[in-house]
Amino acid sequence: MSVLITGSVALDSVKTPLEEHHDLLGGSASYASVAASFFTPVNMVAIVGTDFPKKYFELYRKHGINLDGLQVAAGQTFRWSGEYEWDLNKRQTLSVCLNVFETFQPGLPEAYKATPYVLLANISPKLQMHVLAQVSGPKFVVADTMDLWIERERDALVELLRHIDCLILNESEAREFTQQTNLIKAGRQILKQGPKFVVVKKGEHGSLLFANDMFFSAPAYPLEGIHDPTGAGDCFAGGFAGYLAWKDRVDHNTLRNAVIHGSVIASYCVEDFSLTRLESLTQPEIKERYDLFQVMSRFEMS
Ligand code: AMP
Repeated sequence: MSVLITGSVALDSVKTPLEEHHDLLGGSASYASVAASFFTPVNMVAIVGTDFPKKYFELYRKHGINLDGLQVAAGQTFRWSGEYEWDLNKRQTLSVCLNVFETFQPGLPEAYKATPYVLLANISPKLQMHVLAQVSGPKFVVADTMDLWIERERDALVELLRHIDCLILNESEAREFTQQTNLIKAGRQILKQGPKFVVVKKGEHGSLLFANDMFFSAPAYPLEGIHDPTGAGDCFAGGFAGYLAWKDRVDHNTLRNAVIHGSVIASYCVEDFSLTRLESLTQPEIKERYDLFQVMSRFEMS
């Protein structure tokens, strides 16, 4: 089963305490689409400017990503820049320039409209809703968001929650959105606003999956070689949605496995800048880390 992914395609400038890089391929749709492509065919919906380097179209194509919904418009590609502290969990956004995204109102290619699985990767909730409204009877809809939209477009985000099956957000966003300090209360509160499932990402501490009758706490992979955390959340969402689409099932055990597969792809993403590590990622490497997640989480009565 294929997955439709919409979100940003960006040229990122990223500074860590040890390295600085400019005009890297980034954006929520880039990370999420490449992550999902390890499991299932992807239909991408996004926009770039005429300055977008040709080599990046090639990268998407190499991952079999359908680009019929990737519009090229006169103007500049979305740009984002961020800087990390020595504690790589702490990031400052230095600038965001929406550029061609400012007026982006895509009409979906006809062949995309019946895509059964949908991932609304991080972008304005109004745009997420605009895309979702054109998909006919999707089986499962996942949405990701960020603090910017919680602060600036809260009403649109609340409305979106009524139309999706699963919301993914990180712990500080869950607290900010619900005004709850406790994450369990925050997760339960979001469930009451529409989605049947909520995933709260806790960075290097793993993630929590909530449903009304289920709770799952996934560990994080104990990584030592983190170079650039950018895109980890988007890769998690892409791996999660891509895995569900591949299995074409959304029962509790498949959802737990989707959380682990999302975590596996995210753990590889942060080993290098941009999508560099994902470009060389192989299925045996995904399996190897998945197996380690199983070993790390298993215990028996002593
Ligand atoms: P993450 O590290 O998972 O939070 O995602 C980082 C990616 O999100 C970068 O590649 C950025 O280009 C992209 N990004 C940053 N701000 C926004 C925004 N407001 N809307 C959409 N994408 C964004």
